[in-house]
Amino acid sequence: MSSAGRLAGKNALITGAAGGIGLETSILFAKEGASVLMTDISEPALAKAKAKVTQLVPNAKRVETLVCDVSKEASVQAAIESLDAWGGLDVIFNNAGIMHAKDDDAIGTPEAIWDLTMNINVKGVWFGCKHAVQALRRNKKTKGSVINTASVVALAGAATPQLAYTASKGAVLALTRELAMVHAREGFRFNSLCPAPLNTPLLQDWLGDDQAKRLRREIHFPTGRFGEAVEQAHAVVFLASDEASFVNGHDMVVDGGMTKAYVTPE
Ligand code: NAD
Repeated sequence: MSSAGRLAGKNALITGAAGGIGLETSILFAKEGASVLMTDISEPALAKAKAKVTQLVPNAKRVETLVCDVSKEASVQAAIESLDAWGGLDVIFNNAGIMHAKDDDAIGTPEAIWDLTMNINVKGVWFGCKHAVQALRRNKKTKGSVINTASVVALAGAATPQLAYTASKGAVLALTRELAMVHAREGFRFNSLCPAPLNTPLLQDWLGDDQAKRLRREIHFPTGRFGEAVEQAHAVVFLASDEASFVNGHDMVVDGGMTKAYVTPE
């Protein structure tokens, strides 16, 4: 049993835990001694993901799964309240998000796609924050860590339009900052993660074999490559841990320097 990990004694809930960043974070959280509730909208993907976590971290303290649609408040509330039986939530990683293929510019984005994106990417994060605060208070916690996944597109404009997604991630940054101020004196920290484009299904399935589309993104990386989901997960472990006790309201940009680039190296 990992009793000496950086997250030992913490009960953590991860949304969108079946793939990409959520899965890599579940693995690292389990390695660092947290008890982990992996949640996702997809039950089969969740079962596969849990099998991977338990295979890679056989001495994990506790790893369980629960189907949860973050766009439904009752679903988020039930998932968070289920951790009361574990001693109450300490950490939540509000990570589930979508980027829809029909998302487009101001003219081309269908209203239904705008609403769907906002319901998952923004409302889902709000519901997670709301019920996390209630759980932290209910369980008389004097500290708690909330990490919300935004994106570099909240900081830098994308000339390949995805307006609903971009707006949704800007909202995540703004709401996280405000909550960080509102709850600071209760000991509850709120930080955002801003990943750059990654090697995860969310982006890679969409890019497919289109080399031109791929190059338009790759060229902006000083490192010359997309990021890996595990590189995001390492930052999330830090934000979740007590090592980050004075890190609050921060936009944690993990982008290989992309948002600081002027010209690319040759
Ligand atoms: P992913 O598609 O690999 O994983 C997202 C997970 O969220 C999936 O398992 C999916 O089933 C789940 N999900 C979708 N809708 C849901 C809902 N309504 N309720 C609960 N779960 C739901 O994607 P990823 O790359 O790991 O993305 C994770 C987060 O990182 C997202 O918020 C995404 O916007 C953000 N992000 C990703 C990239 C990238 O390039 N991959 C870049 C910046 C930000």
